[in-house]
Amino acid sequence: MAKCIFCGSTSAPGSKEHVWAQWISRLFYPDPRPDQFITVRQTAAGVGIWEAPLIDVKINCVCKTCNSGWMSALEAAVAPLVTPMILGKPIGELSLADQLTIATWVFKTAIVLEHATPMTRTPFYRFELANAFYRSQTPPNAVHIWLAHYQGTRAAASVVHRRRLRAKEPKRVFESATTTLSVGQFVFQSLALKEVEAANPSLGASLVFDSQWQSLTIPIWPPSHQQVAWTPPKQLDDPLFRAFADREFGIASR
Ligand SMILES: [Zn+2]
Repeated sequence: MAKCIFCGSTSAPGSKEHVWAQWISRLFYPDPRPDQFITVRQTAAGVGIWEAPLIDVKINCVCKTCNSGWMSALEAAVAPLVTPMILGKPIGELSLADQLTIATWVFKTAIVLEHATPMTRTPFYRFELANAFYRSQTPPNAVHIWLAHYQGTRAAASVVHRRRLRAKEPKRVFESATTTLSVGQFVFQSLALKEVEAANPSLGASLVFDSQWQSLTIPIWPPSHQQVAWTPPKQLDDPLFRAFADREFGIASR
């Protein structure tokens, strides 16, 4: 196989990793529709939409040792937490440990999703980033993750953006990758930033968002050390989901 994006192994046998683990697919049986999985990706040529049955999205950039080891354990840990959210059942407080488990799973999914739908020849989540995550089993603190509640017509959707941002004081150029995903009524958004041509790819820039999203989102990463409850006060319908997925942000000047 090609090099495993997480552990770097080239000798372990490859395995077909489901972008959507089977515990998620099973929630949609017995009625998978051909347009169940929608991927919107921004490329240099514009925005492309890819539709596929949920269960058929597989990639082979992960080795069998990773897939049947830590990734399988992560799916098993997150399934009981996220299943009620996918089904739209309000859950009580998410403990800090729960938030860490969900954030770790979200970040893993964002990396796998990018490699499943490559937009350019150089992935944002290059091997150094994916491998550092594999070794720490924790998202970097510079990654932001929110949860939201979707009540629209799609069974599942994902929207991926890569952007360039300029900070004025001090002058720095960043690249961002935003991954927004809905499965059933569960939504996550992960946002990673890295400084272009910087030795250290992560950073702790203060980000500025439109305040309209506050009542629609629950931040779970970086850790706030507070318990949070799902659902948020307001839900995303189809137009709001798309506006949320496409939302831009600024970098606060110091
Ligand atoms: Zn591996």
